[in-house]
Amino acid sequence: MTSKLLRGRTLSFLRWPEATDDHAAWRYEKDGGLLIDNGTIIAAGPYAEVAKRAGAGVETIDHRPHLLLPGFIDAHVHFPQMQVIASYGAELLDWLNKYTFPEETKFRNAQHGRRIARLFLDEMLRHGTTTVAAYCSVHKSSAEAFFAESHDRNMLNIAGKVMMDRNAPDGVLDTPQTGYDDTKALIAEWHGKGRQLYAITPRFAITSSPEQMEMATALCREYPDLHMQTHLSENHAEIAFTQELYPWSRDYTDIYEHYGLLGRKSLFGHCIHLSEREADALSQSGSVAVFCPTSNLFLGSGLFDYQRYRRREKPLRIAAATDVGGGTNYSMLRTMDEGYKVIALNGEKLNPFQSFWQLTRGNAEALSVADRVGTLNEGTDADIVVLNAHATPAMRLRMETVETLAEELFLLQTLGDDRAVREVYVAGQPAKSTIAA
Ligand SMILES: [Zn+2]
Repeated sequence: MTSKLLRGRTLSFLRWPEATDDHAAWRYEKDGGLLIDNGTIIAAGPYAEVAKRAGAGVETIDHRPHLLLPGFIDAHVHFPQMQVIASYGAELLDWLNKYTFPEETKFRNAQHGRRIARLFLDEMLRHGTTTVAAYCSVHKSSAEAFFAESHDRNMLNIAGKVMMDRNAPDGVLDTPQTGYDDTKALIAEWHGKGRQLYAITPRFAITSSPEQMEMATALCREYPDLHMQTHLSENHAEIAFTQELYPWSRDYTDIYEHYGLLGRKSLFGHCIHLSEREADALSQSGSVAVFCPTSNLFLGSGLFDYQRYRRREKPLRIAAATDVGGGTNYSMLRTMDEGYKVIALNGEKLNPFQSFWQLTRGNAEALSVADRVGTLNEGTDADIVVLNAHATPAMRLRMETVETLAEELFLLQTLGDDRAVREVYVAGQPAKSTIAA
């Protein structure tokens, strides 16, 4: 039998919550039920109603008193950087040259790629993340390893081989032609296979020659439905070097604009130091600015002005992400905790409902996959995280004084990590408890 019924407190968002009393923005059931059939949520609501619809004989998994939410989404992460995380003492460009590029060179070895892809997706699931937008290394085999592992687990993931043909060691360079050919071959093999989605991935303007940028343009024209992901405006030295390499450009964003890379499926990591013109250009094209708080703090890159971007006359679409290995934690809970602090340093707040909207539905909307994941809506894929706010002694103690759902969510965000993730379901199948130790 492929049906199962999950029972617990269910929380799913309908839209951005304006305030903690904006109850119309979410659906919360104190005793909720989710009926899953063949990987899809086919009924959601009060447990009693859903159980009636399920009928007798359906396997019921009782997760009370825990919270059931849509699986978390990480909108920007580098799977080949698991052994780069926690590398000391450098800003972006030095960090890339000293740690990241040498590490990514190891992915010439396909077996290394397969091992890290497996461990990476284990780590994602352990932390409650069911969908990522991932950068692979420059090597075609790294993307093959990632997609094969993701497909085996039936995860909905977006990924791409990075295209980079200059300003890095030979071991991590392609050429405009091989970058194009490998990308096309990977799209043909993996895009739309099961739940796999391909993202055209020029690493950033520094490591792509104008000839390679033209190849990225060609790919985006040939495959207008695909995602495009890259980096933008992370660090002052990066911005200055980029402008030297493209002296004709008005600003950093103008380079991507010139090559036709802006659009609703375009994901720009960081976007910290944007001018008003750049922010307008991103807004008008519907491009997504990806907020990577742990990375931005760790590398000393700057403070992403979340609330200003959201409220400006031409608002930005925003996603949130770990950016591991520049980021310092795999957990989207830890990420939003640091995000809260970055926003606080800008003199603003992000309330807990807004935070949990962001890492579920908000990120799904930003990645244009909200019709499939990011909510507990009927007809969507059953990617679900089960959260336990009593996971540690310190959390249990603090929970003694917690009275509202908002307080519980904020506690989960502030003190929670993988220990607070009791279980994860991927397309209806338990995926955390089944990871080999
Ligand atoms: Zn990145």
